[in-house]
Amino acid sequence: MTSQMSDPAISLETPVRAPSSVPVDDAVIPFEVSALDLRGRLTRLGPALDELLVRHDYPAPVAKLLGEAVVLTTLLGSSLKFDGRFILQTQTDGPVSFLIVDFRAPARLRAYARFDQARLGDALDSGALLGRGHLAMTIDQGPDMSRYQGLVALEGGSLEDAAHEYFLRSEQIPTRVRLAVGEEWRRDGNGPKRGWRGGGMLLQFLPKAPERARQADLDPGDAPPDGSAAHTVAEDDAWVEGQSLIGTVEDIELIDPDLSGERLLYRLFHERGVRVFPPQALQAQCSCSRDAVEAMLKSFAPQDRSGMVKDGKVAVTCEFCSSVYEFTPQQAGAE
Ligand SMILES: [Zn+2]
Repeated sequence: MTSQMSDPAISLETPVRAPSSVPVDDAVIPFEVSALDLRGRLTRLGPALDELLVRHDYPAPVAKLLGEAVVLTTLLGSSLKFDGRFILQTQTDGPVSFLIVDFRAPARLRAYARFDQARLGDALDSGALLGRGHLAMTIDQGPDMSRYQGLVALEGGSLEDAAHEYFLRSEQIPTRVRLAVGEEWRRDGNGPKRGWRGGGMLLQFLPKAPERARQADLDPGDAPPDGSAAHTVAEDDAWVEGQSLIGTVEDIELIDPDLSGERLLYRLFHERGVRVFPPQALQAQCSCSRDAVEAMLKSFAPQDRSGMVKDGKVAVTCEFCSSVYEFTPQQAGAE
């Protein structure tokens, strides 16, 4: 992921200004704390996340989990170049057996989850909902570029845990991620209104001297047979400070509709100085189309197409956006 990161152009003439107090929803703000060699991104999602989740009639815990996956996707995928595609998927043995978030740079998001209602029970946190399996992240930068896939095991932990594991094992970049999703209740002229909101932050330590980025293993695994302690690595002071700062971020700060992203970043990093880059807008938009569905139908074997005729027509529902496309048997080639 980070190897794909495009550096925002840094101009030395960037004026110093006070943080904007105007909240901007549905956007990612890249930022930098150069005094600590930290780079990061802050996501704030409002209407776009609500649109993604209410298209599906998910129970609240499933919607919240999928929302967290959407926030994580925006933190990891938003550095892709134009037309790039970032896909995050989980495949696990828990009540939510599969989820997918598909991000197409620079802005489009779509997502869905598969779950077993009967097994949801009291499983409320993301670790219990997912269970064990794996998380896959795929980067597709277009036909001329090779596809990249990163895999990380899910072992009953949260998506935040999985992201940390991924960066520790695969990228070896000191990274912390925070994800928060919640439902907001607001009163407007028509009475109470509810809507999903999400927020997240990615913080990475990218010192010029690579030896400063050494990290202790998260899981030392088996104890050494001679009984000596597992080796420990002293973390760089700047990264210790970065982790302690991101550790103070509350869920409510990440999703608070009245707290601007810039103010949140200023609140955290003002003593060291934080530079923000222009926000990148995000939107909920599916890429399905009648033509694409028709082409897919025509790629099926004739007997499969015939098996899809119900009540004199062929109906195909897009799992991402719940759009229904209807065809006559002739149109679907199912006669
Ligand atoms: Zn669709």
